[in-house]
Amino acid sequence: MSTATLTIDLDAIAANWRALDAANTGETAAVVKADAYGLGATRVARRLMREGARSFFVAIAEEGAALREVVGPEAAIYVFSGHMPGDADMIADCHLVPMINSVDQMIRQAEALPGHGFGIQLDSGMNRLGMEPAEWQAVREIALAQGPRLIMSHLACADEADHAMNAQQLHAFRDMTEGLDVPLSLANTGGILMHRDYHFDLARPGIGLYGGAPFTDARPAVTLDIPVIQCRDLQEGETVGYGNAFVAARPTRIATVSAGYADGILRGMGPRTSLYAEDTPCPIAGRISMDLIGVDITDLGHDPSSLRLLGPEQGIDVLAGNADTIGYEILTSLGARYTRRHIGA
Ligand SMILES: *Cc1c(COP(=O)(O)O)cnc(C)c1O
Repeated sequence: MSTATLTIDLDAIAANWRALDAANTGETAAVVKADAYGLGATRVARRLMREGARSFFVAIAEEGAALREVVGPEAAIYVFSGHMPGDADMIADCHLVPMINSVDQMIRQAEALPGHGFGIQLDSGMNRLGMEPAEWQAVREIALAQGPRLIMSHLACADEADHAMNAQQLHAFRDMTEGLDVPLSLANTGGILMHRDYHFDLARPGIGLYGGAPFTDARPAVTLDIPVIQCRDLQEGETVGYGNAFVAARPTRIATVSAGYADGILRGMGPRTSLYAEDTPCPIAGRISMDLIGVDITDLGHDPSSLRLLGPEQGIDVLAGNADTIGYEILTSLGARYTRRHIGA
């Protein structure tokens, strides 16, 4: 078999949730949008239910509908995108809680689903989703009269604890919610780790569950092992791959592994990235192709049957740094062709 194996450690994800829950003064939810950042929302949510998570967040109603089958009738499922045209039946049938982002969405919700639970998303400065302060001011009495279940906002710079934007957004959120008898939520992973002022009633960690920065003490949750298809010897001066980007400076042994940028191994990470044979890093040789990568195993001394791209020795944030991106993108790029294996279920 030449498909690579992506191993997802549910024990690690559970441990990360418990650690964030211990650091958080309020309730700790779990963000499982985008198939739990690529790691499998069904398996992740089922495991986190066992740990005690009772609130889940998804990006869109369709994700919420699929999740409802997994978490049973009691858990709360909040939808960040709110109530979009065509969502009413799904919201009603699957008991989703749309986070209402605008007056338009509020009218849509009130007309289609009067009496159905909803939340409100406020914009505290990120200018992405949620009602702006003036808009909120205009509709808040009407909205509050209908009993929202949660009022939330989102931090733009929580991965930089010292950024002035954090305190600015905290003040804006407090201004907009002062004196309200409604559960409040502001913190993502970074917000939990920053200070208890950011915790409010409910926190919404995502990346920290899956082992990513800024939760630097997180347990890594993924390993990716890629089979070696063949190995060959090169003489000094021979080249590897497209564009002859690698030129052998010495007699060299190259292993060709069975994965590439079509599997989410971002092409830009090539020049700075190694694959591991046990503890030994073996540098990528030449350009990452669509389905194949050349790896310099000269110093390894034997031909491995597979090489590891992601694991304890090299996590998502190392690869992210190598590719000038963030761990979130490394995870959500993980390819559809991998054989996914969940351990610790
Ligand atoms: C994705 C997301 C989260 C989770 O953020 P992390 O940085 O992954 O912890 C929380 N809230 C909102 C609104 C989000 O979009």
